[in-house]
Amino acid sequence: MTQPKKLYIKTYGCQMNVYDSERMAEALGASGYVPTDAPEDADMILLNTCHIREKAAEKVYSELGRLKGLKAGNPDLKIGVAGCVAQAEGEEILRRQPLVDLVVGPQSYHRLPELEARARSGAKALDTDFPEEDKFDRLGARPKAQRGPTAFLTVQEGCDKFCAFCVVPYTRGAEVSRPAARILDEARALVDRGVAEITLLGQNVNAYHGVGPDGADWGLARLIRELARIEGLERLRYTTSHPNDMEDDLIAAHGDCPELMPYLHLPVQSGSDRILKAMNRKHTAEEYLRLIDRIRAARPDILLSGDFIVGFPGETDADFEDTMSLVRTVGYGQCYSFKYSPRPGTPAAEHDQLPEDVKSERLARLQALLNAQQEAAQQAMVGRTVGVLFEKPGRMPGQLVGKSDHLQAVHVNAPAELMGRIAPVRIVKAAPNSLGGELA
Ligand code: SAM
Ligand code: SF4
Repeated sequence: MTQPKKLYIKTYGCQMNVYDSERMAEALGASGYVPTDAPEDADMILLNTCHIREKAAEKVYSELGRLKGLKAGNPDLKIGVAGCVAQAEGEEILRRQPLVDLVVGPQSYHRLPELEARARSGAKALDTDFPEEDKFDRLGARPKAQRGPTAFLTVQEGCDKFCAFCVVPYTRGAEVSRPAARILDEARALVDRGVAEITLLGQNVNAYHGVGPDGADWGLARLIRELARIEGLERLRYTTSHPNDMEDDLIAAHGDCPELMPYLHLPVQSGSDRILKAMNRKHTAEEYLRLIDRIRAARPDILLSGDFIVGFPGETDADFEDTMSLVRTVGYGQCYSFKYSPRPGTPAAEHDQLPEDVKSERLARLQALLNAQQEAAQQAMVGRTVGVLFEKPGRMPGQLVGKSDHLQAVHVNAPAELMGRIAPVRIVKAAPNSLGGELA
């Protein structure tokens, strides 16, 4: 018997990359690879990169530089770059870093076995196409192995919104939705393997419009309602959404579909209409606030999350105060906030940039407010009984850790048999990033 080859994947960035890394490992399983956690044992190292953060490409080049020693010690080691930096840099990676054998963009992961064979033969392998064929069809069924209770499932890829700061439309391409039947099959296969909670993923997930098994156009709400009928699938979530795609039936589903969890990540980026316009977000602050009112009317206990960018080109003190005021009005449970940083090739990168100290000062003030809101949301859970899906052992003996319906980490003394199951838990204490509870 030939020894299996070992694959080490380092994943950067969002949940979509986490899902893609799983699918890449599955695709390379067909070429005889098994996953390893130790890069020094690997026959192939793949960096699954993200282009959203500042100086993303430079960080990938320095990471590749650090792999030189491993390659020198094992000339058979193949090194690949995948993800959005691979898509954006393409051939330049092979030119700048000769130790790289393989470069693959997010739309070509189904071609990994061929690319790996090409790299093994000593050639350089590059594929950053946006191919005609359906990547997901070619990736095939999920493997039969039992797995943990939560999973990601990509339903939509790409983005047509072209926010002025964002590289996603360039690296992930135009919006494409997968056919609903394929998603339902993949969800059933995950549930058969022990999954109780699925998070539906897309760069713009609520823009999902896929063909249904009946030939009709299905929006995200229809898809969620059908997924909720799968026996054993207890919880559904979705991320990330754009405010303009929150359709009425999706808002209604938050009120009447018990499997859809009371948590929503709905980024607004800024509270200033002038900046929202410059960002090409195509809605006003007031429209966002009215939308939040409607979502809360459907599901009053929903925990809201968002993304903010401070220091976008042209942002004045007054614009920033509008953002602070929007945050105070909404009251978030959890948020991500960033200093604007220019991404080459995006419209906003061409404009005059604000001084770094202005951005830093605004970010610190915004984060202080968001942290206070998060702490208040955590405290508000004390005394409540919520469902917790147990995912792993805690640090203390006899303890399990899971996620509440509202996606908060909860530590509970609980028997190991509850692993992978949902149990009611009374929350007894709150810290900024986790809760403590007792089985109810
Ligand atoms: N599609 C999602 C949306 O519309 O909100 C998320 C896209 S992006 C992967 C995640 C977040 O990164 C964005 O919501 C934004 O706040 C942040 N981001 C993207 N480009 C940025 C930039 N040039 N500078 C700072 N933050 C940025
Ligand atoms: Fe980027 Fe999201 Fe805007 Fe699309 S909607 S361009 S992914 S920030």
